[in-house]
Amino acid sequence: MSPVQLTYEQLKAYEGQPTGTAGVGKDLVNEPMIRHWCEAMGDTGPAYRGPDAIAPPTMLQAWTMGGLSGHLDRSGAYGELSGLLDDAGYTSIVATDCEQEYLRPLRPGDRITFDAVIESVSERKTTKLGTGHFITTRMDIRADGEPAGTHRFRVLKYAPAARPPKTAEQPQAPEQPRARRPRPVINRDNAGFWEGVAGHRLLIQRCTGCRTLRFPWLPGCNACGSAEWDTVEASGAGTVFSYVVMHHPPFPAFTAPEHGADTPGPYAVGLIELAEGVRIVSNVVGVPYDKVRIGMPVRLEFLYVDDELELPVFRAAEGGEG
Ligand code: ZN
Repeated sequence: MSPVQLTYEQLKAYEGQPTGTAGVGKDLVNEPMIRHWCEAMGDTGPAYRGPDAIAPPTMLQAWTMGGLSGHLDRSGAYGELSGLLDDAGYTSIVATDCEQEYLRPLRPGDRITFDAVIESVSERKTTKLGTGHFITTRMDIRADGEPAGTHRFRVLKYAPAARPPKTAEQPQAPEQPRARRPRPVINRDNAGFWEGVAGHRLLIQRCTGCRTLRFPWLPGCNACGSAEWDTVEASGAGTVFSYVVMHHPPFPAFTAPEHGADTPGPYAVGLIELAEGVRIVSNVVGVPYDKVRIGMPVRLEFLYVDDELELPVFRAAEGGEG
């Protein structure tokens, strides 16, 4: 079935069309939701507690969400646009990013209302995933009638790039190169961590304001809000705080080379509590996946993955429970 031809003008016509008008938040801004959010995010910021508490700004979208019962007042424009793109062969969708702007703090008791429009539809773009169009939706959020913030949400509707035939159920043919392990996303907030890894040092961030250690790396301190930090090098000692065993789907890139396996198989992902008190998600090596146990002592080492990637992993210590 050949896809329907689509002009950019047809898509552009949806810019500015409402996707929801006069939406009303299901709950007033309230302390219980703020507390649950802070607990889930591990955010202990003092501004979010006590009689003058405000809501964390990043909760903005939460106050507009319809929950399982949904909202009844959505317009059909977004569905129409989506349908057009489906018919033209752009049948896949991925959320790419979101941007928020905060105009006024939200406080318990504020009544939330919001309107949303399709802000823009991009020209045809080709990405690693495939070719398609980015759709940006903008939601304007008000608190007791005053502008409180803006939430932009972008998706890519795309036709997936052609893939080689699926062979996941069979052992890999010997001539196929080993699948590459995914590369870490390195940005200015975590570059220091990866520089440490390159030098075989596991660096923990330390707030120079209040000395609180933090991991993974973040731009600011959750305890005191300071953006100043230095690092301490982990001693390398730790214990398995928790773990899961990945069985399915099989990822060839995660075939545990240290187990000598040739086909994708189960592997253990551990949440390791370092001696310094912070926790890191990593692989547990040197022990079969089904022998990993909570409380097992482990020791840091660096796994050579390929010429461009080494990773901190944790080897079950000698004498650990077997
Ligand atoms: Zn601090």
